[in-house]
Amino acid sequence: MIIPQLIYSTITNKCPRCHQGKIFESNNPYTFNKPLLMRDSCSECALRYEREPGFFYGAMYVSYAIMSGIFIMWFLADIMWLHMTPLFLGLLVTLNMALLFPVVYRSARIIWLNFFVRFDKNYSLRSKVLDSINESKSIIKSN
Ligand SMILES: [Zn+2]
Repeated sequence: MIIPQLIYSTITNKCPRCHQGKIFESNNPYTFNKPLLMRDSCSECALRYEREPGFFYGAMYVSYAIMSGIFIMWFLADIMWLHMTPLFLGLLVTLNMALLFPVVYRSARIIWLNFFVRFDKNYSLRSKVLDSINESKSIIKSN
């Protein structure tokens, strides 16, 4: 099932393939020290995050969907309960989207990456190295 893995990867800022390495340098999207800086590859399984040049242009569609959902939620809340003036609603929604920008930017990229990479619990560089060591030991024993 992809949805729980996608949610886990997005919330914890973890690599979609191994769920161990970080995607963004900082786990906090509101830190002042480069909150939007992505790593080139996973430190654990060596997955290259930008699979091809311009790969993350597709994340704009995910970001658009998330922001549209937020706008629709505010709009429906206004129609049903809040009854604000259109100017105040526009300012509130704009402020809300500006404050949520770092979270949406990071989430959109991680979700986009999860569309193309599946979680594999056995896939990590360490496990591959251990497998190759065990394999070479067995070859030595057999000879
Ligand atoms: Zn990884």
